[in-house]
Amino acid sequence: MNEQLKQIYETMKEKGFKLTPARKYMLEIFVNSDYRLLDASQIYDLIRKKNKKINFSTIYRNLEILTDSEIIEKITFNEETKYKLREQGSPHHLMICTLCHQTIPLPFCPFGELETYIKNDTDFLPTNHHVEIYGYCKKCRQQQN
Ligand SMILES: [Zn+2]
Ligand SMILES: [Zn+2]
Repeated sequence: MNEQLKQIYETMKEKGFKLTPARKYMLEIFVNSDYRLLDASQIYDLIRKKNKKINFSTIYRNLEILTDSEIIEKITFNEETKYKLREQGSPHHLMICTLCHQTIPLPFCPFGELETYIKNDTDFLPTNHHVEIYGYCKKCRQQQN
């Protein structure tokens, strides 16, 4: 079994979540999708190839559970809700390819200084921020040439 998948299964168990067949299939799909954004119906189509008995509401409910357990994350992209595997313990900003929906984490957060400035020089106390960078990944750029 894939090492990353094994680790995720462990994390699930540590957090007290049961590894139901639906969850196993879903996690496998997320690991194999390599941090690409997927919507619920894409996940549904992929799962149906493996197990015809799993219905859409099971998938939808489990997407919520996996999001709550911080195994995957939810991103709104083109006004649609999409999901991807969450990088454990790494920066929270993403570069998103608008062609293939591949996501790449920013290696660091560039907004630390800005938050310090806001805290010190304005009446506002920042607690969180949310930034996504959109563009074209290397593979898509090469394909376009
Ligand atoms: Zn791309
Ligand atoms: Zn940040």
